[in-house]
Amino acid sequence: MIIAVDGPAGSGKSTVSKEVAKRLGITFLDSGALYRTCAYIKIKYQVSGKELIDFVTLSKMFFGKDGELFLTINDNTEEVSKKIRTPQIAEEVPKVASDKDIRALVTEKLREMSETESVIMDGRDIGTHVFPDADYKFFLKASSKERAKRRMRDYEDQGITMSLEALIKEIDERDKIDSEREHAPLKKADDAIEIDTTHLTIEEVISIITARTN
Ligand code: C5P
Repeated sequence: MIIAVDGPAGSGKSTVSKEVAKRLGITFLDSGALYRTCAYIKIKYQVSGKELIDFVTLSKMFFGKDGELFLTINDNTEEVSKKIRTPQIAEEVPKVASDKDIRALVTEKLREMSETESVIMDGRDIGTHVFPDADYKFFLKASSKERAKRRMRDYEDQGITMSLEALIKEIDERDKIDSEREHAPLKKADDAIEIDTTHLTIEEVISIITARTN
């Protein structure tokens, strides 16, 4: 079984998908984490263009049993789970994710990861592009202000301080690039169920999804 959960930054996709995965006993896959890791590779190894594509081609990305993400390049394995959640990566990632070749490589990795098990995968193009035949598709949205508030709490948990205004700007800019890019843009699949999470609790969103997929 494949469940696709798409939507803009901060719409609640990851939090909700992680919990739904637990309740349904399936695997949660965070596709954004892979794009973030590509941006991390770009910054860490100071590569771009063709060289970045080569690095991503050679890299291995895999999730541990508690959802932690590992990156292997040239026999060097490191856990990147926290390193990819910084404002610098957030700014870089939509540019990296606009590249057609990067998208093809990440899409291939995501499909491989889902070959042998039931998954709930969150992202921007899961229902439209990665798994157009997914069994269930959801599209989560929320107001910019609410999404920025959520992101602010995530950053605070990591000891990173950013103003609400700066976060609204970051999120709006990212969504604009994600929605307007040529390849697999952020878009609701025609057959996805749309959920506006602005005034819903996490539990309420989880209930809507599990009621539909059980
Ligand atoms: O979900 P998250 O906010 O971690 O995603 C980070 C970025 O990765 C997005 O802003 C987008 O540029 C890119 N992304 C994408 N396609 C996906 C998932 C994420 O382009 N399926």
